[in-house]
Amino acid sequence: MVHDSWDRELGMHRRITRRDFINGVAVTAGAAMTPWHLLGGESAGADKKLDYYPPALTGLRGSHPGSFETAHSLRDGTFWDDAGKPVDTGETYDLIIVGGGISGLAAAHFYRKIAGAKARILILDNHDDFGGHAKRNEFRDGNNFRLGYGGTYSIESPAPYSKVAKGVVEELGIDVPSYSKYLDASLYRSLGLRSSIFFDKETFGTDKLVVSLPTFGGGEKQFIATDKPEVWKQILAEAPIAEQAKKDLERLHHQQQDYFPGLSSVEKKAKLARMSYASYLRVVVKVHEDVVKIFSAVLQPTFGLGIDAIAAQDAWGDDLPGFAGMNLDPAPGKGMNRDAIPNEEAERYFFHFPDGNATIARLLVRKLIPDAIPGNSASDVVLAKANYAKLDESGSPVRIRLNSTAVRVKHLGDAASAKEIEVSYARGGKVYTAKAKNSILACWHVVIPYICEDLPDSQKQALSSAQKVPLLYTNVLLHNWTSFQKLGTNAVYAPGCYHTRLKLDHPVSIGGYECARKPLESVVVAMQKTPCKPGRPAREQHSFGRIELFTTTFETMEREIRTQLARTLGSGGFDPARDIAAITVNRWPHGYAYEYNSLFDSFWLEGGETPCEIARKPFGRIAIANSDAGAYAYTDEAINQAWRAVGEITKS
Ligand SMILES: Cc1cc2nc3c(=O)[nH]c(=O)nc-3n(C[C@H](O)[C@H](O)[C@H](O)COP(=O)(O)OP(=O)(O)OC[C@H]3O[C@@H](n4cnc5c(N)ncnc54)[C@H](O)[C@@H]3O)c2cc1C
Repeated sequence: MVHDSWDRELGMHRRITRRDFINGVAVTAGAAMTPWHLLGGESAGADKKLDYYPPALTGLRGSHPGSFETAHSLRDGTFWDDAGKPVDTGETYDLIIVGGGISGLAAAHFYRKIAGAKARILILDNHDDFGGHAKRNEFRDGNNFRLGYGGTYSIESPAPYSKVAKGVVEELGIDVPSYSKYLDASLYRSLGLRSSIFFDKETFGTDKLVVSLPTFGGGEKQFIATDKPEVWKQILAEAPIAEQAKKDLERLHHQQQDYFPGLSSVEKKAKLARMSYASYLRVVVKVHEDVVKIFSAVLQPTFGLGIDAIAAQDAWGDDLPGFAGMNLDPAPGKGMNRDAIPNEEAERYFFHFPDGNATIARLLVRKLIPDAIPGNSASDVVLAKANYAKLDESGSPVRIRLNSTAVRVKHLGDAASAKEIEVSYARGGKVYTAKAKNSILACWHVVIPYICEDLPDSQKQALSSAQKVPLLYTNVLLHNWTSFQKLGTNAVYAPGCYHTRLKLDHPVSIGGYECARKPLESVVVAMQKTPCKPGRPAREQHSFGRIELFTTTFETMEREIRTQLARTLGSGGFDPARDIAAITVNRWPHGYAYEYNSLFDSFWLEGGETPCEIARKPFGRIAIANSDAGAYAYTDEAINQAWRAVGEITKS
């Protein structure tokens, strides 16, 4: 069969580490007999075994099988049918935190500062690893040890870090200004590598890699350095696009035309806030459709949407072309997305660890449970191996219980006067309960209405509107990267492909960890996909994308990955069957926090109380954190919201 022989060429049948697991999860005897939705991860106690070490798992990670079924059956109203009588653990805590991401971990950290180091805290998380989106991927290829980021990529934010968030970063020993010491900033340039665009056959009529863009360094906000005319020279020469599109690209970049003459800057911005960048290009600038296709996915990594759903005002803020003659006041316009407001101070505040902000999560865990992660500095943590058996020990004041999905959080009595909270969670096929004086829900807001049934309806509605942005962060371990070298590129933007972006990781060496410096060494290629449904409102696009990610098998994703790499790098000698050593797909159907968008959220233009302000209101002894609480998809917000939530439950 044609399919079989193509699969053979792609290496679909080769043994790589992914097949040690079914869909990324090691299936144990207990697991095989328990309904997935009750499992809440692996069978109870698996995370106590000495060889339990999730960062080294490959295959389907992120929202891995076993992590989400409980929450989905709660949503579908079927969970309690099979649940059986909850088992009382007899445990009582000062604080139970739902969600072991950076917000939940930071909340524990802040709470201990106020309540003392002896305060008893339980952190529950549905995943088999802590960190939430801040996940570590480890790989081994012969003697080479490589790290990748499974989600949260770096310390960076469009707005400056708050005093509180900066304070945590500093307390953890991270010296952000020292980043340049660890980054081999000239590595790719010294090898003659630059960024490129892959024009695919389905979108542009032929497969063609055009290498032309300057290599970007750390902290790049967008893929195409659009303000540099020379960048487009080679694209114009080689791109498989219509002649008219080439002329329009020139015009778009160089013409100083005011498309809204007679309007003030404020009036122009108000118009731009209400039209998509795609419409602006098509209807106002009147470019050829090929130009729209080139820009279609350029802001996807930041917004999780194509330019059909990004306001032209936000495109202007993000430096996309077409506004040079508009005489727009450089101050941000009303209704701009926070990702589109440039800020130099914020741009300078950047630090990328090889495993991304998983290092922040690991440093927080080390502070909370020192025995779990050896060492004492922000650099030695990079190679430190976490001891998962120490996370949930009865003698420890702080306990992190993985593979445990909170299914009910309720006051024992009336919310206004109750002295205690009871938290029920599913783990290993059973439901357990534990009690606490307070609870912080640092989990995804869309989950909260299902676990905290007593909340007012208006608050539940606001929580439910925090639709997460779906994403795939795929890491592919290659035995070598000679094909990248031959083609002269280290990063590829591919607007029509399954993953719209792929790149060799930032060359960072720190704490004894050495990045790949020679093309013959193994390397991690990071690929990103943001599934969208162009033409629909943002939240609807995210819902479709979420369904797509939950219903696509790992096998299909693997075939897409191998095919895309073969088509992009094949002319550089890349052979997917020979060169791929491992694949980890970090699937995040519930990814970035939803950020407000002037095209779809009228309140964002009009002002007034935002849904996240309603959603995060404290309720009796329960406070609500997570980056969702600020509608802002960044680590600093996860920390800021933890600080606020702790303040709410500790004020007397
Ligand atoms: C792919 C990706 C890349 C990103 N890159 C960056 C970046 O480079 N820089 C940056 O600043 N930010 C980035 N972000 C944003 C990131 O979300 C935040 O920075 C931060 O990590 C969020 O932390 P959090 O604790 O608020 O949420 P999360 O990390 O989502 O943690 C919440 C945790 O609660 C758990 N949970 C949910 N329901 C339950 C339940 N019922 N019971 C138990 N646990 C539950 C979730 O599974 C999750 O583990 C990225 C996000 C994604 C998805």
